[in-house]
Amino acid sequence: MGGIVIEGAKRSYGAVEALKGVSLTIAPGEFLALVGPSGCGKTTLMRAVAGLEPLDAGRVLFGAEEVTRRRAADRDVAMVFQNYALYPHLTVFQNIAVPLVMRRLNAWQRLPLLGPMLSRAAREGIAADVRAAAESLAVGHLLARKPGQLSGGQRQRVALGRAIVRRPRVFLMDEPLSNLDAALRTETRRELVELHRRVGAATIYVTHDQSEAMTMADRVAVMMAGEILQVATPEAIYADPADLRVASFIGSPRINLLPAESGPDGLVRVGGWSTGLVAPGAATFAVRPEALVPGPEGLPAVLEHVEFLGDSLLLHARHEASGAPLVARLEPQARKSLERGQALHLRPLHGLVFSADGRRC
Ligand code: ATP
Repeated sequence: MGGIVIEGAKRSYGAVEALKGVSLTIAPGEFLALVGPSGCGKTTLMRAVAGLEPLDAGRVLFGAEEVTRRRAADRDVAMVFQNYALYPHLTVFQNIAVPLVMRRLNAWQRLPLLGPMLSRAAREGIAADVRAAAESLAVGHLLARKPGQLSGGQRQRVALGRAIVRRPRVFLMDEPLSNLDAALRTETRRELVELHRRVGAATIYVTHDQSEAMTMADRVAVMMAGEILQVATPEAIYADPADLRVASFIGSPRINLLPAESGPDGLVRVGGWSTGLVAPGAATFAVRPEALVPGPEGLPAVLEHVEFLGDSLLLHARHEASGAPLVARLEPQARKSLERGQALHLRPLHGLVFSADGRRC
């Protein structure tokens, strides 16, 4: 199976440039998560890959084959969106079978949906495929039910079954789990990864949920204002962001940002405190909350409040020199020794340095 190649994709709606020349390659069998703030162009990009949205410029290829001008119905793409729609009057079996039946019927035969016009062999083949898809999603026992008799999670899995049953070349998912409650989300997340392994189609998965992107994807693409800022493994996007916007978007609580400057020796200083890093042209020093620890030396700060999260503690402080807020994530036992208004030092174990234009130094 081939991958997906997007080259210089542009799309504007009047004055809004939803895609500003996006290039992105998804390897055969790869699971790529696409993340970015609301309105950055994720859905527009997915719709362009699916063939539901024309591009003003650029190309889309599946494997070596260009599909830019091909109709959606002829692209062999399976899509699962947030607002998946099942046919309420059809059973689970029939809902999953729809794409298979449609593929085997020609245009005039499609009118009486699920018509009796298929040969017996064709019907048996379809039934076997539907059962296999339903079993793999743990809805095999629900085939005779109608959507109204299913839970939200079961309905979602039937929609997934309908998407995979055709063995598509390309799989597009846009927030497919956002209607599920937290427990079901975690469970379905795991099932989706398993499913992807079995189906093996190149997949683009849009999500607002960073932990979903981090746990599920081979690589994560961060998109902002119609551009892809970085594509990398979940580990690299977190620990080694190329850009200040990526560093700020990924991670919760957000990465701490402090004004910094490079001395004549190149040493990066934050309000007079030396970070020990050498990088000419420093403008911002960034440190993740878990890399900030109280100690005898470090950034002088005042403690504002402490948030107990059960498995950890968030310490909210203010950097004395710049007034910038600082958040440190500590072990829950650290709580006893902390008091509001207390002066303390927070030592960055490691940090990242960015120049004034937001690039890594
Ligand atoms: P969200 O995460 O909120 O779903 P998104 O990243 O998917 O957002 P898009 O839906 O792709 O963003 O929209 C990108 C930009 O294009 C937005 O500014 C949006 O308002 C605009 N836009 C999208 N579709 C249209 C349209 N049909 N007409 C005009 N503007 C549009």
